[in-house]
Amino acid sequence: MRKTTENLLEEIRSKALEMNLSQQQVRIVELVFEHRTIAEIAGLLGITPDPYSYDALEPYIGRRTVELHYSRHHQSYVNGLNEAERQIDEARRTGDMSLIRYWSREIAFNGSGHVLHSIYWTNMTPGGPRTPGPLLTAELRRVFPSFDSFQRQFTAAAEQVEGSGWAILTFNPSWHRLDVLEAEKHEDLTQWGSVPILVVDVWEHAYYLDYQNRRWDYIEAWWHLVNWSDVERRLALAMMANVPLT
Ligand code: MN
Repeated sequence: MRKTTENLLEEIRSKALEMNLSQQQVRIVELVFEHRTIAEIAGLLGITPDPYSYDALEPYIGRRTVELHYSRHHQSYVNGLNEAERQIDEARRTGDMSLIRYWSREIAFNGSGHVLHSIYWTNMTPGGPRTPGPLLTAELRRVFPSFDSFQRQFTAAAEQVEGSGWAILTFNPSWHRLDVLEAEKHEDLTQWGSVPILVVDVWEHAYYLDYQNRRWDYIEAWWHLVNWSDVERRLALAMMANVPLT
């Protein structure tokens, strides 16, 4: 049996290589095969701000902020998601559903935290194009009178989130349009079906060391870091989705 499993894994690896998958993708395929939980796989997806080092976002966001934000805060959401998935697995096995409300909330909170942080890191780059791509420009034009008006609304949303949360540019594949949403914490005020394509973290941990309580200054600085190529890519992928309401 063990031999068979190893043979199959070997087959998967060589198929994956033929398909030009990265090492990380190959590892994910292997894990799926080994019946690991989704959270463990998500944990492996990597939370590293890989394209840049901790100090690459300076002077807009300081090295220490990125380091703490990534290695402690984001990591803790991944750990929390893994733990919640393990506990849910256990509940399914034993049939004891008495704590299911608690673990469901943990999955919503930590899972949303992991999703949004992953997008946040890739939404930023020290040296990307300074303007939105053609697809985003066209979609923005359908709903905003100008790029400035989009920026004003996004900035205001980020500035006004009550407590800890996010401003999020979304594309909804059910009715094919952009919207600006806020999230309190990571998951409250979500609109079902919306795909986040540009996000800014306005939890204090994202800016306190650099800007103390001056959230507006941080948001203004953050605009200098937006990776418009990544936003364009995310929009293109969201637009390919077809999710009917009925
Ligand atoms: Mn954060």
